[in-house]
Amino acid sequence: MAGEAGAPASLAFAAGVLYGTANTGFGRVEEFMGQGQPVDAGRVAAALSGRSVVLVGMMGAGKTSVGKRLAAKLGLPFVDADAEIEAGAQLTISEIFERFGELYFREGERKVIARLLNGGPLVLATGGGAFMNATTRQNIAKYGVSIWLKPSFDILLARVRKKSNRPLLKTADPEQTLRRLLEERTPTYALADLTIESLDGSHETVVDAILRRLDATLGKDVAPVQEARRKVEVPLGARAYSILIGPGVLDEAGAEIARIAPGVHCAIVTDARVAPLYLDRLSASLDQAGLRSTPIVCPPGEATKCYAEFARVCDALIEARIERRDIVIALGGGVIGDLAGFCAASLRRGVRLVQLPTTLLAQVDSSVGGKTGINSRHGKNLVGAFHQPSLVLADTLCLDTLSEREFRAGYAEVVKYGLIGDRGFFEFLESNWRDAFAGGPARAEAIAVSCAAKARVVAADETEQGERALLNLGHTFGHALERLTGYDSARLVHGEGVAIGMVSAFRLSRDLGLCSGQDATRAEAHLKAVGLPTRMRDIPGFDARTEDLLAAMRQDKKVDRGRLTFILVRGIGQSFVARDVDEASVSAFLTREMAVLT
Ligand code: NAD
Ligand code: ZN
Repeated sequence: MAGEAGAPASLAFAAGVLYGTANTGFGRVEEFMGQGQPVDAGRVAAALSGRSVVLVGMMGAGKTSVGKRLAAKLGLPFVDADAEIEAGAQLTISEIFERFGELYFREGERKVIARLLNGGPLVLATGGGAFMNATTRQNIAKYGVSIWLKPSFDILLARVRKKSNRPLLKTADPEQTLRRLLEERTPTYALADLTIESLDGSHETVVDAILRRLDATLGKDVAPVQEARRKVEVPLGARAYSILIGPGVLDEAGAEIARIAPGVHCAIVTDARVAPLYLDRLSASLDQAGLRSTPIVCPPGEATKCYAEFARVCDALIEARIERRDIVIALGGGVIGDLAGFCAASLRRGVRLVQLPTTLLAQVDSSVGGKTGINSRHGKNLVGAFHQPSLVLADTLCLDTLSEREFRAGYAEVVKYGLIGDRGFFEFLESNWRDAFAGGPARAEAIAVSCAAKARVVAADETEQGERALLNLGHTFGHALERLTGYDSARLVHGEGVAIGMVSAFRLSRDLGLCSGQDATRAEAHLKAVGLPTRMRDIPGFDARTEDLLAAMRQDKKVDRGRLTFILVRGIGQSFVARDVDEASVSAFLTREMAVLT
């Protein structure tokens, strides 16, 4: 992700779109900075129809200077959230950080922004970290249009250097810290409705560009912004790609694919359960965009990730004359994504892949990150390749046909992202999970945050050398349980194993004195509330000895030279890789946990 500040122009442009446009779809970028006629600001103000404009982005992005000018043009009041917080507390931000800590500040910031938006409309400049909070993002989506101001890294650095009052930059190497913060936050900033890149950073041109983009998008017959679609960028340099998330994305697949690969021939790999539901719509959409397609239908189920199906699909792709420049589309859950992905990686040494995930698990996990593969009789996912997709299209409406159990199982992975590293997101889920289950706006938000979290980890560690291991929270336990229940989905599906595994990781961490009992209880309570199993005793007829469990854990492929690697936690949102876990304490822990089985 090192190249972020100097991302290629095409990638930079692609980030800047306001979603929610009913029929124009994604990625339409017709303008860029400093071009075209002056815009009638009055018309833009009217089109905003009571919504606020919220500026987000890094410290030094120019939110205050741009915000003041923009507000004057739109005839709206301007408020700087940080200034508002300072005035309310009678302290500077630095002083609040020093005296009360960052968590306290963030909580106050969330409340102040909610109050300001509620009293809108206005132009609001937010602090650099504010948009990281899922509740704040939800509020912003409800009351306003969010705009990410994204100057080049050099401009940020030059501006930040001039001021010494940035508490997060009071470190030995501010440049490095700024770079790290920017990398961490980029996938989340990219959730904003609009992105404005500025090469020279002139505030006037930025204001003009904002007005032009608002004019181009708001004037149209747009869906309410809160139902807007999301786009998450996976910043992997030459292999960078977008994830488009929202209701009805499936029907725009043709247009989206034609944008990156006009005129290609597509092979749609799917399974026999998904085909009757979505294949016709996908083919029609491709047709409309002038893309020919050939369907290849596999049997549903995990057993499809095998050598025989791999060979059959590869041959079918060859027979369909899929060439190097053509595209393989995976339409289905993780099984299809993994199999079709591996076929795409192998066919002619690699053809492009588009993931069209139709299960929640696939939308938040398997379709992003480029891991593909099949199972061997020696174990799951033992044969495969890293092959990043060129595009991921997650239609949130497809999840309506999923069984509730499958949805819940995928949801365990959503919760995982909160537990790994985003306490605010976990809290958002605690308050909004019902809406996400029911298909409300929280669903797309939860999926987008999850994808952004995965994108961040993948960008930092594409081939799983280090940090990516955090994504395995709950998985060492979970995989062992899947193994011991014979991969019998009637008894346990993957996400359920992960839910039990995550609770076990919290309880083990608590027993090791790493994490508070309160956080362990809270994590479990949420998983339980949505109806997921949280203990081994919840698995029907489960009966195993500590020894069996330990042996099953040792077989997990995450075993590093004989050592059990665990992802442990210091609290909700604070996970870490523990390589030196003493096997005796794990064994004692498991024995205690198993004791309640009998
Ligand atoms: P799956 O693909 O088997 O889908 C579950 C079931 O739901 C299937 O029967 C399928 O036909 C059906 N289905 C799919 N979409 C549907 C829809 N919209 N409506 C109704 N039914 C639908 O299973 P999964 O849980 O999506 O994925 C599990 C697989 O993903 C495992 O093989 C696992 O190893 C893999 N995985 C891969 C990664 C990765 O990074 N590559 C990550 C996690 C999991
Ligand atoms: Zn998983």
